[in-house]
Amino acid sequence: MDRRSFLVSTAGVSALAAGVGIASGSSAMGASRPDGQIVTPDMAIDRLYRGNRRWVNRVSTRKTYAPPGQTPDAGQWPFAAIVTRSDSRVVPEDVFDVAGKNLFIVRNAGNVVGDVTLGSLEYAAVHTGISLIVVLGHSMCGAVGATQASIETDTLPGGSVDSIVELITPGIANLPAEHTLDEAVEANAMYQARRIEALSPTLAAKTRAATVGIVQASYDLVTRKVTFF
Ligand SMILES: [Zn+2]
Repeated sequence: MDRRSFLVSTAGVSALAAGVGIASGSSAMGASRPDGQIVTPDMAIDRLYRGNRRWVNRVSTRKTYAPPGQTPDAGQWPFAAIVTRSDSRVVPEDVFDVAGKNLFIVRNAGNVVGDVTLGSLEYAAVHTGISLIVVLGHSMCGAVGATQASIETDTLPGGSVDSIVELITPGIANLPAEHTLDEAVEANAMYQARRIEALSPTLAAKTRAATVGIVQASYDLVTRKVTFF
């Protein structure tokens, strides 16, 4: 996907329901931050997109957008929250080539959106400077693969893993029988992103106001590329 269609498609995602353009650039957008920055959802996407291009091209700089000279007791002002896998191969600061303190990260196997994830995101949206939530899946995902197997065999893996599989199942259960793992990963990321708005009135209000955007994306472990969709 080229840069232009990338921006157009992400712009439509969270704002569609409310009929509000994510990139409308109004002064109402963005959190009030200690560094005086107004970070719109589009600016946050642009930072992540450009950071991932550096990661792909192996010219990482570990760029920082955090307020300069800030001490830990002054609070935290990340610009984006990432909901991603626990998978040790997916390191968000690497993938988006930013320094520490720039991302608020919620990790679990399957990047599922359950109560604890929602609570973490509400905290981030209300108390830190985030203007974007990215639900980031990845290629070769074991959690999604286990869910595919669970659906095919109509059995759950057992133990507490079931709670993850049960949260992934609705998002991929209706894919065509011959779907690929990558397609299931994308479907899951999209489903979990929808859950955020559907289940959190706090976050839904922020997307309606266009102060917070929600997008989904997939990370290819081999090419290092993040595809937003
Ligand atoms: Zn995974």
